[in-house]
Amino acid sequence: MSFMPAECAWCGAALPGAAESGQAWHVVRCAACSAGTTQPWPTPAELEAAYPDAYRPAAGRFGSHGDRLLSWSRGLLARRVDALAPPGPVLDVGAGDGSLLRALRARGRDGLGLERHAAVHAGVPMRDAGVADLPGGWAAIVFWHALEHLPAPAAELAAAAERLAPGGVLVIAVPNPGSLQARMSGADWLALDLPRHLVHVPREVLLGRLAELGLSVERVSGWRGGQVGFGMLHGLVRRLPGRPDLYDAVRRPGARLRAQGQTERRRALAAGALLAPLAGVAAAAEIALRRAGTTYVEARRVHP
Ligand SMILES: [Zn+2]
Repeated sequence: MSFMPAECAWCGAALPGAAESGQAWHVVRCAACSAGTTQPWPTPAELEAAYPDAYRPAAGRFGSHGDRLLSWSRGLLARRVDALAPPGPVLDVGAGDGSLLRALRARGRDGLGLERHAAVHAGVPMRDAGVADLPGGWAAIVFWHALEHLPAPAAELAAAAERLAPGGVLVIAVPNPGSLQARMSGADWLALDLPRHLVHVPREVLLGRLAELGLSVERVSGWRGGQVGFGMLHGLVRRLPGRPDLYDAVRRPGARLRAQGQTERRRALAAGALLAPLAGVAAAAEIALRRAGTTYVEARRVHP
């Protein structure tokens, strides 16, 4: 039995108590910075096991409509990054299957992706490396639902800020543990995603850090980062008897994190359809209150 170092993944402050290996995953909030850290801290082997092929299978994650929606939203993000950034290459941290980089290339913009096991991704340049391993001069650096997966997110963010070209932009989307949906769903919150999400950074904490890094925050949005309406809906469906899992229900059978029977799946989908309007209203409310489920930020390096 081993004890994990109990240290805040965001600011490095000591966390109360040591988490015992084998204990159920949970989040411990840091008294110093108020970011959350997943405990016990997963070992490399545990993390490897937490990313089964089902997490992002080659055949696609969702039904054909869902995968098309995903690719459409990557196209929108590519257009936005291309419009925001000065001329130059784009670095996509946590580039997944490379869809953002492909969409950028279609707009005439070169890029590089960072991803675990990068060699399996063909078509666009990918490396299995950290931001600090790279030279500077990036017109944009994108952390699209990536920061929360990194073991040293604050250091990666600082390295990224240093490696932006003058006028370059950081584009970040990250779950917001200070959101209403996080509060409402507790341990069932879709974006908690333990143990893959190692750090849980509230909106104000992220914005504070970007200011400390000397970046100028030009836009903060509760809806541009995506997943807000669905996160809310998933949480509402989970509260029903039998705790139906809508996220697994909309994934292809091979992409489900847990096997799901036909009846269970139909129940989850029916509940989702029924509760969708309510989820829409609730998500709009949390966005209006600046407590959305996802934080989206654009921050620029204004000084040379
Ligand atoms: Zn902390």
